[in-house]
Formats: sequence, C-alpha cells, structure tokens
Amino acid sequence: MRRNDGQGWPQESGVAHVDAILPLALIRDRAATDLILSGLDASGVAFALFSPDDVLSYGSTAFRTLFDVQPGARTFADIMRNCHATGIGPRVTMEIEAFLAMAGERRRSRPQRTFEIDVSDDRWFLVNETLLPGGWLWHVFTDISMLKSNERVLQQARDAAQLAADTDPLTGLVNRRAAMERLDAEMQAAFREGAALSLVLIDLDHFKTINDRYGHARGDAVLRHFAAAGRQQLRGGDIFARIGGEEFMMLMPGAGMPEAVATAERLRSHIARAENRVGLGCAYTMSAGVAQFCGTPAADFFERADRALYRAKHRGRDRIERAD
Ligand code: GH3
Ligand code: MG
Ligand code: MG
Repeated sequence: MRRNDGQGWPQESGVAHVDAILPLALIRDRAATDLILSGLDASGVAFALFSPDDVLSYGSTAFRTLFDVQPGARTFADIMRNCHATGIGPRVTMEIEAFLAMAGERRRSRPQRTFEIDVSDDRWFLVNETLLPGGWLWHVFTDISMLKSNERVLQQARDAAQLAADTDPLTGLVNRRAAMERLDAEMQAAFREGAALSLVLIDLDHFKTINDRYGHARGDAVLRHFAAAGRQQLRGGDIFARIGGEEFMMLMPGAGMPEAVATAERLRSHIARAENRVGLGCAYTMSAGVAQFCGTPAADFFERADRALYRAKHRGRDRIERAD
C-alpha cells in the first residue's frame, strides 16, 4: 500500500470502506488500483480525497484544474487561499479566514453532505462529500451548469408569469386581485407595527359620457393618462392599482390622513390642468374618498373609503372627501 504522498490511496483505515464494494483481491492488486485511479482521472470528473488533517491526498486532474491547485499547496486551506487571492476556481465571496472557519465547521459534520459551488468561469458544481472511516473526506464534483441555467430560465418565466397575473394590461398598474392581496398584507403589517396606513379610492367622473362622446379608444387613452399621472405622485412604497373599469386605489403605508389627502389633491389638480393633458384631446376629472386604517377588518377599511368616495360624487364630483 502506498503512503499518502499527495497522489495515492490513503492508509489502511481509508480503504476499508472501498473493500466493501470491490473484491479484496482486486483492491490489493496494485495494477488494478492504478487502473481505477487512471480511469477516474480520464473520466474528466473532479474527485478529491482529503486526509483527516485536511491534506489533499488525491485530486484528479479535473479537480486540480478546477481548484487551480498549485505545486506547493498541501491543505484545503492552502488551496482555498490561492483561489481567493487569484480569483480562479470556486468563488469565495466572504473574507477568506471567515470562509475557512465556516468550511471547517461544516466539513466532516455529517456522514454525507451535498452543496453547490459556483466557479469563476460561471460553471456550477454539486459537491458530494462523503466522510470515510478515520476522518477521510471524499469529494465528487458534478457539473450542474446546465441545470442551473435551466433553473434561471424557469425562474425568469415564473417571474414574468407572476408579473402578468398581477398586472392590468391596459395601464400596467397592479390589478384588482393583486391589490387586494397587498391591502391585506399592508393592513396586517400596520396592525403589527402600529404604523399608519391610508387608502384612497378613486373613480373617474362621468366616464360613460367620455366614451359616448369621444369613443372607447379615447376612453382607454384617458385611463392610461390617469395611470401615468398617478404613478408620478406616489412614493416608492406606495401601491397604485386599477381595481375596476375607471376605478383606482392608492395604498399608502406610513401615511396618515393629511398626507393621503394631500397626495390625492395633488393628483386631482394635476389632471385638472390643461397643460398636463396635451395630446389627450379631452378633459376629465376624478373623485376620491380617503380613509386611514384604524385596526378594523379589511372590509370596514375599504367601505369607509368607498362611502367617502360616494359622498364626493354626491357633493358634485371633482373633489376629495375624508372618511369619518
Ligand atoms: P360617475 O361620475 O358617477 O362615476 O359616472 P361614470 O359614467 O364614470 O360611471 P359609470 O360607472 O356609470 O360608468 C363607468 C364607465 O366606464 C362605463 C364603462 O363603459 C366604462 N369603462 C369601464 N371599463 C372601461 C375600459 O376599460 N375602457 C373604457 N374606454 N371604458 C371603460
Ligand atoms: Mg365607477
Ligand atoms: Mg365613474
């Protein structure tokens, strides 16, 4: 049996496990073991065997290339320090000593572990780590770059489908279904954190008349114009949704009644100014009802804003009303 000179088999303790698979006579046969090693190497797969004190005992050519193993490197730490310094091989995104401490805790922590690594040439590998008797570690690296790239394509397709399911196609705003989900989530957050939350329900005035007078296409253009104007008025965390034909909703986390009313008022006066409607070919106005969340259920919050909106309509339209 060869000694651990950095290339060959480990001492007796490490071979015991292999004996269970291959006939003893074969494994004791030097020619056969050399053939197995050269077969592993020729397969192009990265394999590595680390001794109990983490000296690289055997590394296939593919492993040595993948990890950019330098002639003087003996231990796992030597190899990884070089990868970190040169930027070649597995990516180490954290500070190297912290990485080695973390890896040291995980290595040999279980009989078998699998984890993924990404490499500087953008390949991904699944690492299968097997703990052998006596503390030896056997690593097999499987190239999963293709799987990863498929996973990315699927993820992008899923994200696009989710976005489409949450978006109103005419205006590009959040649709009613997604808006109601957000309303629920924001109410729970406001309740939990005791934070302010305001809701503005908006309905465009006499929209039927706009359609009748100018045609449906112009009506659509007004809806798009209003969506763009509303987007301009809101802050990053606010939600602006189209929840019906010519009905919209603004959800403003962190905003109290005065702030929400001011935002709605800014939007109302913005669309009222002719210079902001250049090219649209018609005037239009909006009515809105504003409510501030006060820890009551969803339906009540929505209804209070809706009643205020109804009052705005009743009191002549083109105005903002506050909920009680
Ligand atoms: P009010 O001031 O009371 O709200 O009057 P209104 O005419 O706006 O109210 P009503 O609810 O009677 O009419 C809404 C109209 O909105 C009716 C419908 O034809 C129109 N509408 C709904 N969805 C769309 C759409 O996607 N595009 C266009 N162009 N019109 C739409
Ligand atoms: Mg309406
Ligand atoms: Mg209307």
